[in-house]
Amino acid sequence: MIVGRFHGGCHQIGKSCVEIETKKSRILVDCGMDPSNNAIPDVDASKIDAVVVSHAHLDHCGAVPHFDFKNIYCNAPTADLMYNVWKDTVNLSKSYKEEDIQRSMKNINILGYREPKKITSDISMKFYDAGHILGSSSVYLDIDGKKLLYTGDINEIETRTLNPADTDIDEIDTIIIESTYGSPLDVKPSRKVLEKQLIDEISETIEENGKVIIPVFAVGRAQEIIVIINNYIRSGLLKKVPVYVCGSLTHTTGMYMSYSEWLNPKINNLMNNGTNPFGNLLKADDNIFNNNEPCIIISTSGMVQGGPVLQYLSLLKNPKNKLILTGYQGEGTIGRSLEEGATEITPFKKPIQIKGKITKIEFSAHGDYNSLVRYLKKIPEPKKAIVMHGERYQALSLAMTIWKMFKIPAIAPTIGSTLPLF
Ligand SMILES: [Zn+2]
Ligand SMILES: [Zn+2]
Repeated sequence: MIVGRFHGGCHQIGKSCVEIETKKSRILVDCGMDPSNNAIPDVDASKIDAVVVSHAHLDHCGAVPHFDFKNIYCNAPTADLMYNVWKDTVNLSKSYKEEDIQRSMKNINILGYREPKKITSDISMKFYDAGHILGSSSVYLDIDGKKLLYTGDINEIETRTLNPADTDIDEIDTIIIESTYGSPLDVKPSRKVLEKQLIDEISETIEENGKVIIPVFAVGRAQEIIVIINNYIRSGLLKKVPVYVCGSLTHTTGMYMSYSEWLNPKINNLMNNGTNPFGNLLKADDNIFNNNEPCIIISTSGMVQGGPVLQYLSLLKNPKNKLILTGYQGEGTIGRSLEEGATEITPFKKPIQIKGKITKIEFSAHGDYNSLVRYLKKIPEPKKAIVMHGERYQALSLAMTIWKMFKIPAIAPTIGSTLPLF
């Protein structure tokens, strides 16, 4: 019997980690850390033959260095981005040390999309593009002849920077699918609508000589927003003003540029024609405070909880300036307070009176409910579905949809449970 043990990402986003055990071998797919409390999966590393990492988000790769894994499989951009994630985490959580990062980096095996690889005596794998961030993958496993697709985080629509999730997949017996937006209530506006909203909001402020602050997550969202803004500036639909970014964005955007062949081909075409799709990014400095010129400031962190964006919040004392949130704002974060209309915030010692405009335009890296349904219609029909990586309501809701709409038995396992996979 081939069994799956669900160590995290069950009825939660949390720390994704599935252990797969056959008669001959044992592997992990993802080994994440829970971003809300730094919790890590409860696994016995000495029994694990290989770890496959779907993408470089903390909730999928964050716990890897904590364990002494001998074989780690991922693709090249994921390895590079993962190094950044681990370096950030080493300071925040006490779960591992610099030496552990060094050891883990040494044990990485690099694999391209659609490149088959035998990873244990009875398990082979390949990665498919998941459309979620640079390098993001769905993991396809052939386990002693049985076929399993672990979607990882997926986005089935094309964005400015990424291809849609690859759905041209080999036959599937069992699917393990994410459910971040798994409920029929989770329907999001199209990218076209979101882009127009973003540009209208920026234009409104620039016309009034105001400054626009856009807090972003360093990987993915940031690059998409940067490409959108530069595209509109190039086409003359957005007034040319200075675009400032913080240091970590210069770094991660550089990685996007160096892996441009992994991105939407439109990015590569622009670069080959001598146009930089990421535009002329200026490094943010104190001059921003000393002039009355309109500008755009793009900075981490996305939930305005730490990161260089905090130092620009004082600009919101001026009613001409605006802050545009671009993603989900976790409970207890400054971003959430601003979203809920706080009139005063205290990022540092001194409180700041908020007079500027606050707005939110959510550019999610996950497919919404309709996108998940379309994905399921496009891929070969599985015989069984396991729903992970969503809050309880979302996970149960998507399991119900898969059962009612597709007549495929679907379960949303609880944390720590062990189930037959086929
Ligand atoms: Zn992710
Ligand atoms: Zn995730």
